[in-house]
Amino acid sequence: MALRFFNTLTRQKEEFYTVHPGEVRMYSCGPTVYDFAHIGNFRAYVFTDVLRRYLKYKGYRVTQALNITDVDDRTINGSQKQGIALRQYTEKFKKAFFEDLNSLNIKPADIYPEATAHISEMESLVKTLLAKGHAYENQGSIYFRISSFPQYGKLSRMDMSGLKAGARVAADEYEKEQVADFALWKGWDEKDGQVFWETEVGKGRPGWHIECSAMSMKYLGKHFDIHTGGVDLIFPHHENEIAQSEAATGEKFVNFWLHNEHLMVEGKRMGKRFGNYYTLRDLLEKGYNPIAIRYLLMATHHRQQLNFTFDGLEAAKNGLQRLYDFVDNLKLVPGGEENPEVQEILQRARKDFEEALDDDLNTSEALGVLFTLVKDVNRLMDEKKISKSDAQRTQDLVSSLDSVLGILRREKLTLDDEVKALIDKRIQARKEKNFQLADQIRKDLEDRGIILEDTAEGTKWKKKM
Ligand SMILES: [Zn+2]
Repeated sequence: MALRFFNTLTRQKEEFYTVHPGEVRMYSCGPTVYDFAHIGNFRAYVFTDVLRRYLKYKGYRVTQALNITDVDDRTINGSQKQGIALRQYTEKFKKAFFEDLNSLNIKPADIYPEATAHISEMESLVKTLLAKGHAYENQGSIYFRISSFPQYGKLSRMDMSGLKAGARVAADEYEKEQVADFALWKGWDEKDGQVFWETEVGKGRPGWHIECSAMSMKYLGKHFDIHTGGVDLIFPHHENEIAQSEAATGEKFVNFWLHNEHLMVEGKRMGKRFGNYYTLRDLLEKGYNPIAIRYLLMATHHRQQLNFTFDGLEAAKNGLQRLYDFVDNLKLVPGGEENPEVQEILQRARKDFEEALDDDLNTSEALGVLFTLVKDVNRLMDEKKISKSDAQRTQDLVSSLDSVLGILRREKLTLDDEVKALIDKRIQARKEKNFQLADQIRKDLEDRGIILEDTAEGTKWKKKM
C-alpha cells in the first residue's frame, strides 16, 4: 500500500506525491510565544515530529520550517502588561519552547523563522497584493479583499453567503461568523506602543496570517507539499494563508493540509477556568515522565480527539517500562539456536508497522504493532527459543521502528541534593540500627518515585518509571 494522508483540502485520503521528486517540503504553524505552550499545543508538535520522522524513514529528504510568532496581538498585550520590550518578553517563552521540544524528544525542524526577522518579506507580499488589486488601504491599515478571490473558503468549506460587503476585521483571531476582509498590515496606533516598523506599506506591524504566507514561501517555495496545524487553525488562519499566497502568486500554495484534532483533559475541554489546564512544565514539575507524555500524545490517531487522562499517563509509563525491560532482556539472551519463527515475527512486525503509518499516519496502530512484537518475542524468550543473533536482529528492528516513534530515549536519572541527603541519612540510620527511621526514609523516597535497593555493594537507587 502506498503512503496516504487525509487532506483537509479535499476531505479525502489521498495518495501522497511531492512537488520535487524524493523531497518533501513541509511547514508547521508554530507557537505564538506569549506564554508557555500547553499539552494541546504539544500534541500538534509531536504529530509533526512523527510525520517528519516517518517521511525520512520512507527515504524522503525533508525540509521542515516551523515558525515562531513573536509579534501579534497577544505578544504585544503581554509585553505591555509587564512593561517590558516585546523582544524581552517573547525571548523567555521562545527559550522555554525549545527546551520543551527537547524534553519530548521532538527533533529540531530545519528552520525556525521568526516573524520579526521577516518584516521585509511580508511588506513585499502586501505590496504585491495591493498591486494586483487583492488588497486595499483603510485608515492606515491594509486589508485583504475577499471578494477578489472567489475560491475563498475552499479549505474550511464555509458558507460565504453571510459575507457583508465592506465588512472588515482587524483582530488576528476571529470566529467563522465574522468572516470578513482581514488585516494584512495594521497601521500603528497607541496600543502598539513601541512596536512598529516603518515600511512602504505604512508605519505599523504585520497581521498574524501574512507571517506564515511570507515565511513559508521564502523557505519552501511558492508551491510546496505539506502544511500542518491544529484544527482550530483551519479558519481563519489557514484559509487566509491560502488566499494571500495564491492571490499573490497565481499558483497553488500547498498540496496536502494535515490537521490534528483537539486534546481534552479527563474528558473535558482544557481551559484555565476549568482547572484542567496544563503546560508541559506543570506535568514535569509533578514528576511525570516526558517520554510517557510523548507516548500518550501519539497513542491516539491525530484526526481523533485525544482524551488526556492521568490514568492514561500511568498506562503509557507502564507500556514504556515493558518496552525498556524487553530491550534490556534482549541484551541478556545467551547463545542458542536460531529460530526461523523470530524472523517471521520480525518481518510481519515491520510490514504491519509500515502499513499502519502508510494509512494516514496511524500512530495508534503502529504502537500496537510494536507491543505485539514485544509480546511474541517475550514468549520465545521465556521458552528459551531464541538465539543471540535473533535477539540482535530484534533489537535492530526495535531501533529502526523507534527512529519514527522516538520513545526509547530513557531519561537520565538525576537526584536532587535533598534526595541524596536523605539516602545518606538512611545509610547512617541503618548503621545506628535505627531501622524505623531507615524504613520511614525509604517510604518517603518511594513516594517521590525513588526506589532503593540494599545490595552487597551498598545502597543503590532507581527512579520508578
Ligand atoms: Zn501559521
